[in-house]
Amino acid sequence: MQKYTVTLIPGDGIGPDVTRAARMVLDAANVGIEWEVVEAGEAMIEKYGTPLPDNVLESIRRNKVALKGPLTTPVGTGFRSVNVALRKELDLYANVRPAKNLPKVPSRYEGVDIVIVRENTEDLYAGVEHMVGKDAAESIKIITRAGSRRIVRFAFELARREGRKKVTAVHKANIMKCTDGLFLETAREVAGEYPDIEFEDRIVDACCMKLVQNPADFDVMVMPNLYGDIISDLCAGLVGGLGVAPGANIGDDVAVFEPVHGSAPKYTGMDKVDPLATILSGVMMLKHLGELDAARRIEKAVEEVLTEGKYLTYDLGGTAKASEMARAIAEKL
Ligand code: NAD
Repeated sequence: MQKYTVTLIPGDGIGPDVTRAARMVLDAANVGIEWEVVEAGEAMIEKYGTPLPDNVLESIRRNKVALKGPLTTPVGTGFRSVNVALRKELDLYANVRPAKNLPKVPSRYEGVDIVIVRENTEDLYAGVEHMVGKDAAESIKIITRAGSRRIVRFAFELARREGRKKVTAVHKANIMKCTDGLFLETAREVAGEYPDIEFEDRIVDACCMKLVQNPADFDVMVMPNLYGDIISDLCAGLVGGLGVAPGANIGDDVAVFEPVHGSAPKYTGMDKVDPLATILSGVMMLKHLGELDAARRIEKAVEEVLTEGKYLTYDLGGTAKASEMARAIAEKL
């Protein structure tokens, strides 16, 4: 059996609960993963003077693959978001967030099967902002041709690999003619290299309306960082909420898998929240490692537990703890 060493970052708030649950399920799938646990986040500031100690980056760089719980972004301490810093440091330029209906998970829609591909290193997230005097502030939106090209290409390659039919580029090029204009122009150029896949572009506001009217019209969607942040939460809401929305941050060399949701501090240590988003992020990780059989087995076990409806967390209408739901899935394996 192939052996993998995977970096595990438990995270803050609900992070330790959901990563423990995911680890239980992945271990039960018997894939031969050895976990290298490293700590990042608020608690590290006192110890190391930074929420992102060097050993975290070293571990991910060495192992190439990490599973990560959410990290709280301290407000007003002068530290930038650890999540944003990780993505920048490791050049994890593609944030992939699938939104797909799951059996028995309450949702207003059926037939949703969307993959959001969000650019992860540029745009207003570059963090280039400052006060202009006392009473004005300015943030610089950075879009490059190279950054746009690699993310759009990533989206088309994903579409081809997964046998998907269409890529939609989302932008506001009618107003931001330079920045989003460059993104759109580049997206059109790259689309020309993939004649087998349909391409369309949509303005972000109209796109949001269309998404809530008929989400089944969408397939792969690619967009700059900020629109991706917002639209991926919207899409999580289309299929049952943040509790079931997995994600991946992928670069050319390394990949970090994490749920879309944050650290939900009010539920810290309660073993209460839905572990599925993190478990399904683990499934994405297994697919990335080429462990397709194990990934499929976990997906099947998840579907069975959802369909039986005995061990569901509160967001899915049940009363089970995170660990009970994870154990039920692990037992199916
Ligand atoms: P959040 O996603 O942590 O929580 C918002 C609400 O969503 C929760 O109160 C809860 O009702 C629900 N929710 C979230 N996860 C759930 C789960 N697994 N099961 C069931 N319900 C769930 O968003 P927030 O409160 O805006 O952010 C809290 C902190 O997390 C902030 O510091 C933020 O910066 C950080 N954050 C981190 C990441 C990350 O690490 N990638 C992502 C988003 C937010």
